[in-house]
Amino acid sequence: MSAIELARAEIRALKPYSSARMEASGGSVLLNANESPWPSVMGGTGALNRYPDPQPAELVRRLAALYGVTPDQVLVGRGSDEAIDLLVRAFCRAGQDAVVISPPTFGMYSVSAGIQDAAVIDAPLRADFSLDVDGLLELVTPRVKLVFVCSPNNPTGNLVPVAEIERLAAALADRALVVVDEAYIEFAGTPSATELLGRYDNIVVLRTLSKAHALAAARVGTLIAHEEIVALLRRILPAYPLPAPCVEAALAALTPPALTATRVRVAGLLEARARLAEVLQTYAGVREVFPSSANFLLVRCADAQSVYRQLLAAGVVVRDVSHHPALPDCLRISVGSDEDHRRLLAALGRREEAA
Ligand code: PMP
Repeated sequence: MSAIELARAEIRALKPYSSARMEASGGSVLLNANESPWPSVMGGTGALNRYPDPQPAELVRRLAALYGVTPDQVLVGRGSDEAIDLLVRAFCRAGQDAVVISPPTFGMYSVSAGIQDAAVIDAPLRADFSLDVDGLLELVTPRVKLVFVCSPNNPTGNLVPVAEIERLAAALADRALVVVDEAYIEFAGTPSATELLGRYDNIVVLRTLSKAHALAAARVGTLIAHEEIVALLRRILPAYPLPAPCVEAALAALTPPALTATRVRVAGLLEARARLAEVLQTYAGVREVFPSSANFLLVRCADAQSVYRQLLAAGVVVRDVSHHPALPDCLRISVGSDEDHRRLLAALGRREEAA
């Protein structure tokens, strides 16, 4: 059995929509898509009167090169959020199937599952935030189709070793897909789970240009999987998912000089993360700063809500994650610019030494 057989039968049987842009390749008189023959009166950065390529070949090629995979293993969509949604819709039958998540983790997995009426089974992280692989495996029943693993995990910031992901993939072969969300992997400096793709057809890796590549507003996310899974998901992807200006922005971010600049910026951010972690620990209201492999810090406070309000009053917005039972009094703070950190620290007030 191959992993593709885990997908919903009706999706495998679906005859996909065939868009005009898919059919017309190479023509120079385009009268097949009911587009405007003139460019927009808005002018701006380029004519937008034609529908975009559903999967722009050059973008797919450059993303494949960046992530060290082949173009047919790549699906580009509107952020990793869209990839999560596509996976749930393609693999989970409403009211019957389920996904497994390991809370505290990124909220979109359970939201997408809820929209599809797929059950969400919790395999909580251990107290030190490590993934409980054996505990998780015990929860995988035949109705579980997807297991989401976030590495580095949002909001705890820790990595899941690739060896653990491999253990999951091996144990779940022919049973469920292991979806590894690597939105923050560039800040970890460790290898991607894509290295497992050659050996396991049930591994799916999610990458994004939103974080390290500073393109959150362009909404460009990449799903990397066995070519059969990519081909299946292309069937349910909306006809023209990627707006042309976003594709242009992504292509510009993927040129060799831009990639070099990104690497330099990421290295700078890692230094800023270390400095911020160190200095935060000296503040009176801060109890613990957890180690982070991402571009944010999880910080345990004496009283998270009062620190949150104090920061907000000074115009500094952080994420209050203290509602999660495993994260009492915790705030998640993105690593920002030097000026952002000055404002943050000024708003935090009293340091321990001065207490
Ligand atoms: N995965 C994780 C773990 C995230 O934290 C986020 C965004 N906060 C996403 C995916 C979604 O990213 P994108 O902008 O690519 O949709």
